[in-house]
Amino acid sequence: MTEKTFPLTKEQLERIIEMHPTPFHIYDEKAIRQNIRRFLKAFSWAPRFREHFAVKATPNPRIVQILREEGAGTDCSSLAELILSDVAGVRKEDILLTSNDTPAEEFIKARELGARINLDDITHIDYLEKHAGLPDFLCFRYNPGSLIEGNDIIGKPEEAKYGLTREQLFNAYAIAREKGVHRFGLHTMVFSNELQNDAFLFTAEMMFKLAVEIKERLGITLEYINLGGGIGIPYHPDQDAVSYEYVGDAIHKLYDEILVPAGIGDIMLATESGRAMTGPFDWLVTTVLHEKNTYKHYIGLDACMANLMRPALYGAYHHITVAGKEVAPLDHLYDVTGSLCENNDKFAIDRALPKIEIGDRVIIHDAGAHGHAMGFNYNGKLRSAELLLREDGSVELIRRAETLDDYFATLRFPGSMM
Ligand SMILES: *Cc1c(COP(=O)(O)O)cnc(C)c1O
Repeated sequence: MTEKTFPLTKEQLERIIEMHPTPFHIYDEKAIRQNIRRFLKAFSWAPRFREHFAVKATPNPRIVQILREEGAGTDCSSLAELILSDVAGVRKEDILLTSNDTPAEEFIKARELGARINLDDITHIDYLEKHAGLPDFLCFRYNPGSLIEGNDIIGKPEEAKYGLTREQLFNAYAIAREKGVHRFGLHTMVFSNELQNDAFLFTAEMMFKLAVEIKERLGITLEYINLGGGIGIPYHPDQDAVSYEYVGDAIHKLYDEILVPAGIGDIMLATESGRAMTGPFDWLVTTVLHEKNTYKHYIGLDACMANLMRPALYGAYHHITVAGKEVAPLDHLYDVTGSLCENNDKFAIDRALPKIEIGDRVIIHDAGAHGHAMGFNYNGKLRSAELLLREDGSVELIRRAETLDDYFATLRFPGSMM
């Protein structure tokens, strides 16, 4: 069970709305800091442990800066994310480029920033060398394929487009070494939004055993092992969060049992969590515009799937509360909708909620990861502002809302109609 909370009273929220009209995302700085501190503490036993925050979850430089202040680096998969890392003050090998189908300019920028580069394919060694030159450190992304068939946690890695096969991996290290690379890392990312604690132990055991095999077969001692991201969050109140402490302790044991006896007990350990670092600590705040009763009961908000796409895209559950009605009985059944001309533009279907009135502030929870980030402009919808609730209770604008001028900007060019 997970308690779903919102850090503001209705009165505090109304004061913020006077300055910042809905809809908006609001992030809780204190909760973000407390969460990453607890995460890093669970891995404080690990040599030079690094969490590379997956920027794609929440690509706002202010959020990245807060995480950096707590000791995180970044994980980037695009040119924009590399630039955001730099703007947020993340430096050198605290930045990781884990990209796929990678364009040359990403490799060039990563080299310019001195970032760690994690290659998605064996052919990328030559491509990187040709376009940006080879760094002295290289990491490879491992795809375990059907080797781990029968594991229902991990799904079907052989159908994922990412990473190198096992055979390719050994060849890649040998080729890179031949070309003068002399520091090596190993990476994998095999699941997403996973809530089972033991899934993470499974990855760690697989990766540690592989590191031993790489040493035995190639004589290469890895400098760096990255266990990827994928830590889930309890979107539904019936779900439980992953226990950082349990997972950290259990991976510690595996490290001591597998790596230490093989004489490689000083490998730097890394993760690249996105969702777990920001997902639960942001809320999409909206206002009810309309109530409509036809074959079903609809509540129409001033936000739409352009502000949070997960429910429409994946049918994902996002908890919903109404400001000031937190303890009212959930005795009404509503579809909660946006205004897009798409019938799947619904934040919830047949959701039990308190009786809702026009003008109520409807709060959509766990919107911090892949929320604003997945925003789009279909139907001429505009992306909302992002606010930061500071530890002292003040509110800071960390991204302004889009305007129609922003929307029309690309239609304005010499000779255009606008
Ligand atoms: C998305 C992604 C992550 C982060 O995943 P979360 O589920 O947000 O923890 C990490 N690494 C790579 C390569 C990714 O694509």
